[in-house]
Amino acid sequence: LFITIEGGEGAGKSSLIGLLANTLQHKGRSVVVTREPGGIPIAEKIRGVILDTAHTTMDARTEALLYAAARRQHLVEKVLPALQDGHIVLCDRFVDSSLAYQGYARGLGMDEVWKINEFAIAGVMPDLTIYMDVSPEVGLSRIAQNEVREVNRLDLERHSFHERVREGYMLLLDQFPERIARVDAEQSPENVLNEVIDVISRRFAG
Ligand code: C5P
Repeated sequence: LFITIEGGEGAGKSSLIGLLANTLQHKGRSVVVTREPGGIPIAEKIRGVILDTAHTTMDARTEALLYAAARRQHLVEKVLPALQDGHIVLCDRFVDSSLAYQGYARGLGMDEVWKINEFAIAGVMPDLTIYMDVSPEVGLSRIAQNEVREVNRLDLERHSFHERVREGYMLLLDQFPERIARVDAEQSPENVLNEVIDVISRRFAG
């Protein structure tokens, strides 16, 4: 089972993933938690290049290609072997992030960004995607309170960029209602977790 977690800044993806992994493990399932961009050394290096605050001249297509490259390596080196071994893979971000951020918010076009990602993922799609929906106001104020989080290049974006990211995700929800489930991420972490567990049980009967 390949489950991806998506959302804008401060949606609470990593907290949810931690809680969800614990819950599934208590039910006796074996879980691999990972993230994009990153999850393995090559992809973590690419992440460093993309998010470096010094890289202010990075071209939008270069950025999209780097995300796709990191995705490819992470998929073949970590995700696919784990799925083959029967683990549930919980992945923080996947192709929908590229479609919403680079395709829609950056204006490259979702179709264009899909093309390079189609090449990168070669047919592998998540069984389920949880979209954690949070308004930029709430999300960004959560981030401002989180002192341990590393500052990255995307933190330099304006509020309107995060609004567009959200719109991009909304378009994806309309397009893939079977695969993507929206969860209200402004609720308490417990409520978010319960909603997500409900979605998973309904879709996969436990
Ligand atoms: O999910 P996480 O917060 O670790 O993502 C790191 C940064 O990369 C975030 O600021 C996110 O907005 C950005 N990002 C992006 N495009 C993607 C994936 C992540 O701009 N496709």
